[in-house]
Amino acid sequence: MFPRFGWRFIALIVALFALNYWVSTLLSHPPERVRVPYTPTFLTQVRGGNVKSISAKGSGVQGDFKKDVRYPPGKKNAKTYSRFSTEVPAFANTDALSNLLQSKGVEVNAKPVDSGRSLLGTILIGFGPTLLFIGLLFWLMRRAGGLGGGGALAGLGRSRARRSEESAQRVTFEDVAGIDEAEDELVEIVDFLRQPEKYQRLGGRIPRGVLLSGLPGTGKTLLARAVAGEAGVPFFSISASEFVEMIVGVGASRVRDLFKQAKEAAPAIIFIDELDAIGRRRSAGLSVGGNDEREQTLNQILTEMDGFDANTEVIVIAATNRPEVLDPALLRPGRFDRRVAVLPPDKVGRRKILEVHTRSLPLDDSVDLDQIAATTPGMVGADLASLCNEAALTAARREHERVRAEDFSDALERIVLGAERKVVMTVADRERTAYHEAGHAVVGMLTPGADPVRKVSIIPRGMALGVTLATPETDRFNYSESELLARIKVALGGRAAEEIVYGEITTGAESDLQQLTQVARHMIGRWGMSPAIGPVTVEPSDGAGAGPLLPGASEVSEHTQQVVDEEVRRIVDEAYDEVRGLLTDQRDRLESLARRLLEEETLDELEAYAAVGIQRGAPAVSAGA
Ligand code: ADP
Ligand code: MG
Ligand code: ZN
Repeated sequence: MFPRFGWRFIALIVALFALNYWVSTLLSHPPERVRVPYTPTFLTQVRGGNVKSISAKGSGVQGDFKKDVRYPPGKKNAKTYSRFSTEVPAFANTDALSNLLQSKGVEVNAKPVDSGRSLLGTILIGFGPTLLFIGLLFWLMRRAGGLGGGGALAGLGRSRARRSEESAQRVTFEDVAGIDEAEDELVEIVDFLRQPEKYQRLGGRIPRGVLLSGLPGTGKTLLARAVAGEAGVPFFSISASEFVEMIVGVGASRVRDLFKQAKEAAPAIIFIDELDAIGRRRSAGLSVGGNDEREQTLNQILTEMDGFDANTEVIVIAATNRPEVLDPALLRPGRFDRRVAVLPPDKVGRRKILEVHTRSLPLDDSVDLDQIAATTPGMVGADLASLCNEAALTAARREHERVRAEDFSDALERIVLGAERKVVMTVADRERTAYHEAGHAVVGMLTPGADPVRKVSIIPRGMALGVTLATPETDRFNYSESELLARIKVALGGRAAEEIVYGEITTGAESDLQQLTQVARHMIGRWGMSPAIGPVTVEPSDGAGAGPLLPGASEVSEHTQQVVDEEVRRIVDEAYDEVRGLLTDQRDRLESLARRLLEEETLDELEAYAAVGIQRGAPAVSAGA
């Protein structure tokens, strides 16, 4: 559109809009919003009944307090606020949250969070043409040399990277636990940042870019901060997703500025979070506008990194949950050529992470961190951190002097199963739920290869009317075919029990069916466990396809799809027959567990096995086969 005008012109126009927007917000003057942490502040305010209403978009939440709140609490410079915003962490249990909101009568608005866009829109329509004209004049004058400097523009291309100095809340390797391999790989980086001369003298090539890859919550951001903290160097962090929706040209200039700042402060660390947001593989020939900004930003990062010389004491650390989608250009030598996998912690690692997060908590003697670590397979650092926090809150609510074992186990239950919901169930519903859950549990106890049953409950939680919790004995990374089949059977147990007892089924089994269908599909399509399909992948793995036009998804013929569907049906039908047979034979056990559940509502592992008449620890007898 503006072939000759370049980004400066566009920047100018944008600056004018921004100025206008700023002035109008100054005039309309809504009270300030305070950003509060999700835990403890936000949850505490909700539980305390002090939140009037909220609106949410994505994970962002904005809302109004009933009574003004002083924030930060207990600080001298605290101010009172009537409006707040917060961010719901990805791992938060949103079912539990929405129940909590409901029970506290918080109004959840349908109106969008105020992003200011609508206001901006109004202004664009109202003043757009005039502004454009003024902007054009301004620019022409500037070109003619009439206006020097352009102070208003100076800040525009500035990187919004947050610089945190070593003094502000320094994070060190002390705060990181359970991911020792990843930590070890970064020790050398710390050493380089501490004494670069040592390495430069010998002419060794120090990595310029380190890519941390791992599941969300495994501690990638924490680790990057710890490297900066250990080395005592400034830390510039920016999230790549911030670049995505920017005006063309601004992303690249932010990057330029970010690198400039870091070089001035060198030795320093630049941390680019969520690299996959801009660093996805570029699909040849498919680029349809819209992606330009991403590419320009990415190219600028690569250019900057290529421009590093042996004396540049800046290290770029990037993090991603999805290394497999990254553009190979990012991984070439001299770029992110050092790749560090941040794996979920094992049991010993979980124990160490629990130690870190209970350091400042007064723990009762009853708390056994080893045992907690053993019962939390699959949890990552962020989960464990929130478990400790939740346990501390539980203890505080119960006015315990110290955090006790029961505070931990209840907190864990709330995190894993969702908060209990106060609904009134009819007698008939309650009984049906008891048979349904007993069905899951009995199948789980009697099927070889199924995970042990840890808890059975007919207290409604989240969306579910009841729950049967089965978790593996140890950390599992690999499942055999018979174990997967056992999962499918356990999921079918609820429905089969209802059918046997009542002769008909209800809608309650929906999530069970979704779950087992997915397992069956993966068995066939991904893990080659069906003779009819054979050991080939016919289902794209997560994150493989960046679009429907990419190869991969379309390689699977319609015929194959159909065979997959037939195979899913076959596996599930066979499993269902077996489960029905098993529960018909074991009707006594089903009845006795259901009866116990109606009396007790919740049974733990030992109680549940006792009710069924199986001694826990003894190998399960397969009576169904
Ligand atoms: P990621 O960036 O991998 O998604 P974060 O580094 O943001 O994860 O982790 C979030 C929080 O979880 C951290 O601030 C920390 O409190 C906790 N945490 C995560 N991993 C660990 C760990 N390995 N050791 C100690 N705490 C951890
Ligand atoms: Mg992170
Ligand atoms: Zn169920």
